[in-house]
Amino acid sequence: MNKPLIVITGASSGFGAEIAKIFNTAGYPELLLGRRTAKIEALPLNFENVLIESVDVTDQAQFKAAIQKAEAKFGPTDLLVNNAGVMLLGNVLTQDAKEWQTMLDTNVMGVLNGTQIVLPAMIEHQHGTIINMSSLAGRKTFVNHAAYVASKFGVHGLSETIREEVSGQNVRISMIAPGAAETELLTHVTDQGALTDYQAWKDSMGGISLDPVHVAESVKFIYDMPQAVNIRELDIAATRQD
Ligand code: NDP
Repeated sequence: MNKPLIVITGASSGFGAEIAKIFNTAGYPELLLGRRTAKIEALPLNFENVLIESVDVTDQAQFKAAIQKAEAKFGPTDLLVNNAGVMLLGNVLTQDAKEWQTMLDTNVMGVLNGTQIVLPAMIEHQHGTIINMSSLAGRKTFVNHAAYVASKFGVHGLSETIREEVSGQNVRISMIAPGAAETELLTHVTDQGALTDYQAWKDSMGGISLDPVHVAESVKFIYDMPQAVNIRELDIAATRQD
């Protein structure tokens, strides 16, 4: 039997690229989304059943058109991984409000956008899974992370709310809360002081770093459970992280 469609946002780097690889190896058709499509095209994948689309998750019309294109080719989406996100560290006294807006738009609105696109068909088929990439910063606070923490607490809140709304329709809503990992996430930070403090915090624990592969394995683990079982939240961090 043909495997169902997996949609992954933020597939161009970090966690998303590893999630793309793990489902590609397992033989699933994939819709891989990101704005930097050349980076997705450069991933070591079997591209036979892969569709790549340039999508900004804050643009719901663009996001929806890409999913409709993939579903016309591969059938209904069975898993949406709302992984795209941005973390711009900064002190609330000095950070430019545009950076807060970028995080809230991408990390919260992006997740809501994707969810609203795929949920109607999942409800109709009484089958489907959405996994939202949150963060330990969705469970506890960190200095210089005010807007990021607000966005990830938001992801926890919206995930749990939507889970309550659709659990009766046999649709699973799950979230993963990773700790600090080596990806491109920090490369967008403009506040050098906040960046230095973040590195010092990591160094204070012996240079902690979670391998993105293990986050991708967590996504697969959640998805591979029987549809009647929903791992509502999975927290994963380097053992030495405080
Ligand atoms: P990366 O920066 O490596 O990846 C982020 C991905 O998000 C990229 O593929 C980027 O693609 C995509 N993205 C960002 N903004 C948009 C947008 N507006 N529209 C579409 N895609 C977008 O970081 P990570 O892999 O670390 O981040 C993935 C998720 O994991 C994020 O939600 C992050 O908050 C979360 N996380 C990360 C942790 C870490 O320590 N690394 C810890 C906990 C959670 P492109 O630029 O091509 O559009």
